[in-house]
Amino acid sequence: MSTTPLIEVRGLRKAFGDTEVLRGVDLTADNGTATAIIGPSGSGKTTVLRSLNVLEVPDAGVVRIADASVDFGASVDRSTRRREVEALRSHSGMVFQSHNLFPHKTVLQNLLEGPVQVQGRDVEEATVDARRLLEQVGLAGREDQYPSQLSGGQQQRVGIARALALNPEVVLLDEPTSALDPELVGEVLAVIRDLATSGWTLVIVTHEIRFARDVADQVLFLDGGVIAEQGGSEVLSDPQQERTKQFLRRVL
Ligand code: ADP
Repeated sequence: MSTTPLIEVRGLRKAFGDTEVLRGVDLTADNGTATAIIGPSGSGKTTVLRSLNVLEVPDAGVVRIADASVDFGASVDRSTRRREVEALRSHSGMVFQSHNLFPHKTVLQNLLEGPVQVQGRDVEEATVDARRLLEQVGLAGREDQYPSQLSGGQQQRVGIARALALNPEVVLLDEPTSALDPELVGEVLAVIRDLATSGWTLVIVTHEIRFARDVADQVLFLDGGVIAEQGGSEVLSDPQQERTKQFLRRVL
């Protein structure tokens, strides 16, 4: 039985000035799967991820998540495009390299911002959900603390809980551990691993190759703005393309 993928990207292109950063990227991902995007620095990984929620506006290509789709090559009027983009954005939550928490808000207030201010949800209900999420990322009891009172790993776990609080279809993670001290990486990866096994759909840009091998259902190796190799975790354990082999020799 074939199912429609939850995420579908076709022909994604993006240039910054004269530099073509994405040169036709296609990807699909099924509901409940974890997709790892790996590749050399500057290959376009973050641009792909940011295109999925239109933090970067692609020059061409189609991005669909669930029932929301934007064809960036099509010319539509501004209000139509704005509506399409809002619908697409509402299906994903983003975890940034550096968590971007509001420093003057408590942990709980950070988690309520999206659901209450943006989605207009009931505060009491959203608070119950936020507390449950904090428990899930191992931060029960930290509701009233400020980001500066937490370690970098704890802050990033709040960043993850904040993305989940929007109850998105897809969680996008942009190098979620690369700004952390090495000893804090493990606790954040453990939380992401837990999300993957509990059925969230994840797309993660990561340099943690061993983690990707263990957790990802799908691995995309991006090089020079195109997907040079893709498949399951065998892309990392038994790569076929010379470019992938070279990259893995350098990083492993
Ligand atoms: P990766 O995540 O694989 O390191 P990125 O997607 O961040 O790659 O960037 C790909 C290329 O695009 C890099 O050469 C980067 O310098 C360039 N780039 C990314 N964002 C911008 C931007 N806003 N303006 C100009 N160039 C950019």
